[in-house]
Amino acid sequence: MTKPSNATADYRARDAAHHIHAFSDMKSLNAEGSRVIVRAEGSWIWDSEGNRILDGMSGLWCVNIGHGRKEIAEAVQRQMADFSFYNTFFKSTHPPAIALAEKLAEITPPQFNRVFFVGSGSEANDTVIRMVRHYWASLGQPNKTVLIARKNAYHGSTMGGGSLGGMTSIHSQGGLPIPGIHHIAQPYWFGEGGEMSEAEFGNFAARELEKAIDEIGEDNIAAFVAEPIQGAGGVIIPPATYWPEVKRILAQRDILLVADEVITGFGRTGNWFGSETFGIEPDLMSIAKGISSGYLPIGGVMVSDKVADVLYDAGEFHHGFTYSAHPVTAAAALENLRIIEDEKLVDRVRDDIGPYLQQGWRALGDHPLVGEARMTGLMGAIELVPKKPSRAAKFADTGKVGTIARDISLANNLVMRAVRDSLIIAPPLTLSHDEADQLLASARKTLDDTQAELKRLGLL
Ligand code: PMP
Repeated sequence: MTKPSNATADYRARDAAHHIHAFSDMKSLNAEGSRVIVRAEGSWIWDSEGNRILDGMSGLWCVNIGHGRKEIAEAVQRQMADFSFYNTFFKSTHPPAIALAEKLAEITPPQFNRVFFVGSGSEANDTVIRMVRHYWASLGQPNKTVLIARKNAYHGSTMGGGSLGGMTSIHSQGGLPIPGIHHIAQPYWFGEGGEMSEAEFGNFAARELEKAIDEIGEDNIAAFVAEPIQGAGGVIIPPATYWPEVKRILAQRDILLVADEVITGFGRTGNWFGSETFGIEPDLMSIAKGISSGYLPIGGVMVSDKVADVLYDAGEFHHGFTYSAHPVTAAAALENLRIIEDEKLVDRVRDDIGPYLQQGWRALGDHPLVGEARMTGLMGAIELVPKKPSRAAKFADTGKVGTIARDISLANNLVMRAVRDSLIIAPPLTLSHDEADQLLASARKTLDDTQAELKRLGLL
């Protein structure tokens, strides 16, 4: 490794001294040193060493309109000049909250006309847990408390969100999961489909829901919670049979459906919401990230009329956050939604840059190291395998090869994220065709370089 500049060394030393990073092994991170990001514009970020890197992950699946949009800064400044904060607890409201709630009612599916604002995706899902239980209790069915979610789902890292998520690494620390959460199999055909065809496995995974309902008892179950496409779990795009079968099962049961749209919302899958892409009609939707393109932290729970009507008859919901409907974050979100609409970014993902990138991405499937290359909208994954075409062959020491490939990708000036031994991307919805070509070229070079490195290490 080349020696870092004095500026980078200084940043790293101060960071190492005082800053505990999210989801990080601090001892090994500090030994290695973090990449210091000092600037971002459009689809690109710059580090303190002057490297210009294509942000294939939109920050953390959130910067849907691209980095550095001055309009958002100006909207934030205007709102701050009016007032920076007031709460919505004590019989007060304000224009940004009103306008954003109204806008969300307009762009979300028709069953949604009301929103509960929060500060993050985790808070959205914690709100969901309390809200669905409160809903059933209000209907005189207080035993309907269990939430069914999926293994390897990600719903946040708070006590509620981390419990609802199905990540064993998260459950292994801090006393999670909380009671009343049940996890079923995920629709991950490439990893877990065994000898089944993709269509068969989609039905099988959906019927795990039916089995769980029968075991636990419909009278004890409040909701099924799922990401339309699992994001952090590795861009797990369910087989085409999965969601229709889940729909069939839920049509026969009195159980709420909650779509966690924190990643899949706001254009990511080529519709405003992933639920539309998969033809599902959830009773609640968790939203965050793309609502403000990450410019400021804000999220929400979209509440369908069916649920809201019950809650409104049930008196006070003892729940909320200081920053629920924060006026400045709401102003940023409104301006972000204006940009998504004015620039027709949702249509662009569905009809233009989405299909363009998907075609090039799927073509990476011909590389000897790639077992599968999948993408919906602008979220995709490539599965790295030691031997084709078998789905059963996997690298030993899961995650090692993925990490090697991820680091090589960064050296090739492309941010991809490693999940197990797959590489995932979710670039800004504003990605140009030229940038898509650069992304694909860097990804292919990364595969070639990784192959060479694995041979050198004797792993291939
Ligand atoms: N749900 C999903 C589907 C997510 O991907 C995430 C974050 N990656 C969350 C919830 C949690 O959101 P936050 O990090 O804003 O708490």
